[in-house]
Amino acid sequence: MSLILQLMEQDNNLSLHCYAAGKMIRGEELLTIRSPYDRRIVGTLSTVKKEDTLAAIAAALAPNALMSHFERYQVLNKAQTLLGERKGEFAALISAESGLSIREAMYETGRAMDVLMFAAIAGLQEPGQVLSCDVSPQGKTRKIYTVQEPVSLAVAITPFNHPLNQVAHKVAPALAAGTPVILKPSEKTPLTAIRFVELLYEAGLPPHMLSVLLGPTHEVAEVLVADPRVAVVSFTGSVSVGKRIAQTAGYKKVILELGGNDPLIILEDAELELAVTLAAEGAFRNSGQRCTAVKRILVQESIHNEFVSRFIEKTKTYTCGNPADPATIVGTVIDEAAAIHLERLIEKAVAQGANLVQGGARQGALLQPAILTQVPRHAEMVVQEAFGPLAPIMAVTHLEDAVSVANSTAYGLSSGLVTNNLEHAMYAIKHIKAGTVNINEVPGYRIEHSPFGGIKDSGLGIKEGVTEAMKTFSFTKTYSLPW
Ligand code: NAD
Repeated sequence: MSLILQLMEQDNNLSLHCYAAGKMIRGEELLTIRSPYDRRIVGTLSTVKKEDTLAAIAAALAPNALMSHFERYQVLNKAQTLLGERKGEFAALISAESGLSIREAMYETGRAMDVLMFAAIAGLQEPGQVLSCDVSPQGKTRKIYTVQEPVSLAVAITPFNHPLNQVAHKVAPALAAGTPVILKPSEKTPLTAIRFVELLYEAGLPPHMLSVLLGPTHEVAEVLVADPRVAVVSFTGSVSVGKRIAQTAGYKKVILELGGNDPLIILEDAELELAVTLAAEGAFRNSGQRCTAVKRILVQESIHNEFVSRFIEKTKTYTCGNPADPATIVGTVIDEAAAIHLERLIEKAVAQGANLVQGGARQGALLQPAILTQVPRHAEMVVQEAFGPLAPIMAVTHLEDAVSVANSTAYGLSSGLVTNNLEHAMYAIKHIKAGTVNINEVPGYRIEHSPFGGIKDSGLGIKEGVTEAMKTFSFTKTYSLPW
């Protein structure tokens, strides 16, 4: 038995609890988390009630000394080391509760380590500006200085698709900024999040800086969002929940990182092998459950058939099966209901004239990576976000046509273009309405501290990534001096 499988066995009987400012809350109601692959119990979590939520807010706001920059660095750096030591254990837990393949879970854990590293370094810094005031006829010989100060309390609400990295991307920048945070992870993948919080306490985090709560939405998430004592709500998840939060949050800073429907445009001047690789990686990695997964492949007519036949061959190498098997590339989607929904989207598209040319078979929550051609531009799977390993291909006549299709949905998260022509690249960069345009890369390409986030229904144009997220968890104070 591999080490990973052994670790997964050991994790079978996990019994975890929420924490308010470092204090364990032994709730009465138990949430049972089952493997999407074989339905075995991965662990249980005792959930909390409204009074616990209100108490956690009060505990986070109790007077406490501000963490020094060095203390922030030390905790985040230590957490990175601890996570590195337990990489296999965390990856096994991510894989067990989400159904993502162990390969993906190992990769995700590495990404979360990067987030901690960048946050630790950023925690040492004091970004600021000095502005001379003698710069206009109205000026004076004064100077204005800026400093970043922590906000009083942030709430982080995260989705299921990266059980660790989504959490790390909110919690680590908040801590680096010196801001206390209450985490509300996804009820579908809470165990990894709780373990991560415990790891941060172990790394020396002052307890009041972090709480983690899970319970009925109206007793936890909605209470946190509406509470006037919370200064920032940072949410990543679906468009519908994000828009609801926008309506209910009231007078506070709200960061919304929402769904995507990202196109990969492949032009006739593209290097075809690269295009095939990017299409497969973009559409099928993480079981297609990335907000920036390739959700629409727009191929220029002249190379369409050649691309499709090569893409089919490539897709056959994306083995789909037991997530714990190191040979598996594509694990399950989050649950059987999600897989059935995706299966229906395939059936609907086929009924509208699309051809299913590869994959698409479903067994429980496993869905074989599927390629569809001749997908009508109005098919539900290309108009709405289809969160799974589907690769709908649409032929386009030329770049302008491709960009117009790319811009035709309500989303605007990211995009990719495969071309060897700089003019085409610049046209796409200028005209695609999305937060990111990647040339000869998948839409999801980024590093953990580069600015990241969408526009239109994908977000309000406020970026994440460690550096940008630290700005959202801080406010800029200015002061001026006469010298
Ligand atoms: P979801 O919106 O169903 O849930 C996200 C979180 O919101 C969960 O923790 C959930 O418990 C919580 N929630 C549910 N109802 C709430 C309410 N009324 N008030 C406050 N919180 C509430 O999303 P999901 O299914 O977990 O995740 C998939 C979605 O996330 C996809 O649409 C995907 O594109 C998106 N996503 C976006 C990004 C990005 O950076 N833009 C990244 C990853 C995932």
